[in-house]
Amino acid sequence: MEVIGWSLVLANNCLSLVIHGGAGAKRGRDYSAEIAHMRGLVELGRDRLKAGGLALDVAEEIVRELESSGLYVAGRGASPNTAGAYELDACLMDGATARAGSVAALQGFESPVAVARAIMDWTPHVMLAGDGAARFAEAQGLARIADPAAWFTHAGLDESNHPPGVLAHGTVGCVVRDGEGRLAAATSTGGVFGKLPGRVGDSPVIGAGGWADETVAVSCTGQGEYFLRVAAASQVAHRMKFGGQSLAEATDAVLAQIKALGGEGGLIAVDKDGNVAMPYVSAGMKRAALTPDGKIVSAAF
Ligand code: ASP
Repeated sequence: MEVIGWSLVLANNCLSLVIHGGAGAKRGRDYSAEIAHMRGLVELGRDRLKAGGLALDVAEEIVRELESSGLYVAGRGASPNTAGAYELDACLMDGATARAGSVAALQGFESPVAVARAIMDWTPHVMLAGDGAARFAEAQGLARIADPAAWFTHAGLDESNHPPGVLAHGTVGCVVRDGEGRLAAATSTGGVFGKLPGRVGDSPVIGAGGWADETVAVSCTGQGEYFLRVAAASQVAHRMKFGGQSLAEATDAVLAQIKALGGEGGLIAVDKDGNVAMPYVSAGMKRAALTPDGKIVSAAF
């Protein structure tokens, strides 16, 4: 089983940041717009961190930018389910405090990750879903989508020509290690193409699609049904904390499980020492990150 991607070891106390634009990338398609956009966001995140920004705030801001770009299958780039409704999922988690927020099957709001953040900040809950989540977002005064027909861009629809029964998909995510060594992860998705009404994947499920603790921050992308079944994101952390594995060993082992089950996807992760991993077991994964010398690297394959 081959796991493709990069595993970089960065200097201690560095600022680390990784972005993904989804593991639904297909060979032959031009991703130069997405790559250029992600590189710009890595620069933005680096500047925020250099100015003392908190890992959680930076991860959320980057994911909001990814959502609003309309370039990825998340936020504005999402596609409707089989009933024609746009049901979106997101989560974020702060490793320093173990606080988390999550929203599932949200309709009608521009930024699912902003709703997840508000749930974390302003309720005693971690996760809200469906109508209740929308009512909460409304009460918070979060930005509504006035005209879905004009808002959504259906990014990645040309990636969705898988054989019947195969889940084509897309997601965005960001993991951050700030200057104080705090870790955070944020993830947002439109889910899989042609999903049933009410379908929820891994992306809003803390421990499956996203995780952050004092050891590692992880954001996953791929066929959520598989990432859910192996608790992918928290399993990376547990392999490191309780199994003594390195970041590269833990992330590769989790993706090997997903591949063995018949799934595909990838993940991005950063650990407490600033090590970065971006492995995938799919055709490609749009991604960008800081290098140890402060340069920015990016690729789709
Ligand atoms: N994991 C997402 C989901 O299953 C899709 C993706 O990451 O591409 O909803």
